[in-house]
Amino acid sequence: MISEAMAGASALKTAFDMAKALKDISDAAIRNGAVIELQEKILSAQEAQFALVKRVDDLEKQVASFEAKGSQMQRYQLKDYGAGSFAYELKESEARGEPIHRACAACYQQGHISILQFSHNTEGQDWYECKRCNNMHHFGTRVPRTYSRTKTDYF
Ligand SMILES: [Zn+2]
Repeated sequence: MISEAMAGASALKTAFDMAKALKDISDAAIRNGAVIELQEKILSAQEAQFALVKRVDDLEKQVASFEAKGSQMQRYQLKDYGAGSFAYELKESEARGEPIHRACAACYQQGHISILQFSHNTEGQDWYECKRCNNMHHFGTRVPRTYSRTKTDYF
């Protein structure tokens, strides 16, 4: 972007110098050649300006996108679901009609909100799947099953 700005400024400076020199050229053919060269310099400066305007527009859109994403991320807070199992949860104050849900902590750390989908419960833990990173996440304290077989289990 700096090089585009420098090229545009340089082309304008050259065009300005050429325009000043035009008045001293008495030969019509030489003056016409200088006018054509001057027009080329002006076009070059305009192209550099258009490139800069487009770049500024792209950057403004990028900033707006980052701001929207940051605002969306602020709607969640990290929550401990027990035994060091963490996920981000939609804040009640930020729900705006959405049900409270969990978002994958790993994806959140990478700047993405991925809603966790409940899979199943086993041994006291709730298992959720992240559709973005395809990981299963368990929440809560594991309560191992105790097996006690009685004679009736076999019939
Ligand atoms: Zn994930």
